[in-house]
Amino acid sequence: MTRVTTRLRHLDQNLRTGEVRHDPLAFAWHERTETLRLSYEDPTDNDWWYGVLWLRHGTDMTGRHLWKAVNTPRTLAMMTRHLCMVCSASCMRNDRRIWWLLVGDSSHAPDGTPITNLPPVCEGHISESLATCPRLLERSRLISVAGTAPYAVTADVYAPGADDGPTKVLHEQHIILSEENAPLLRFALAKQLWVTLDDLRDEPLILSDWHEHVGRSS
Ligand SMILES: [Zn+2]
Repeated sequence: MTRVTTRLRHLDQNLRTGEVRHDPLAFAWHERTETLRLSYEDPTDNDWWYGVLWLRHGTDMTGRHLWKAVNTPRTLAMMTRHLCMVCSASCMRNDRRIWWLLVGDSSHAPDGTPITNLPPVCEGHISESLATCPRLLERSRLISVAGTAPYAVTADVYAPGADDGPTKVLHEQHIILSEENAPLLRFALAKQLWVTLDDLRDEPLILSDWHEHVGRSS
């Protein structure tokens, strides 16, 4: 009888204990929009992307692996540069399409466009993930996409507090990146990016073929 050992792999996407930061937030006047916006007490240009402030985490991979927490800057890079959530390798194929492994079906924007907040998975790790996790295999949908575009953020929303600085008033809201939402985005601290999946195509998911394919290419 074949003995199956299930080994849980550490994902590059996950946060480590040594990367947690508690940088104080502050509201500051923003010259361009002539409004208050959420900021850090020691802001840098790198804190804002897509008109919203992003949660800071270290990226030095130190400390214990936190299974359920996501490293925000690393995940943002994975979503926008199409890097594998397991190993940070490029998920771009020779034909310039990008591998993506969806768990269940994708989410959809109100107009039906498929969207996701999960980074892609490289070819080697698609095979490995499916071989080592039968539950994932049952629920997975292997696709490729031609590209992605920033669509929304999952973000906490803050309001100016009395004496003790910004106060969190909304937890993990889904906020679409639009001009209409710009006032709300200025009060938000983004944790995850949602992207549209453009020209989504289903790819055949036959494990034996995958083993052969990956075996040949490695
Ligand atoms: Zn990988």
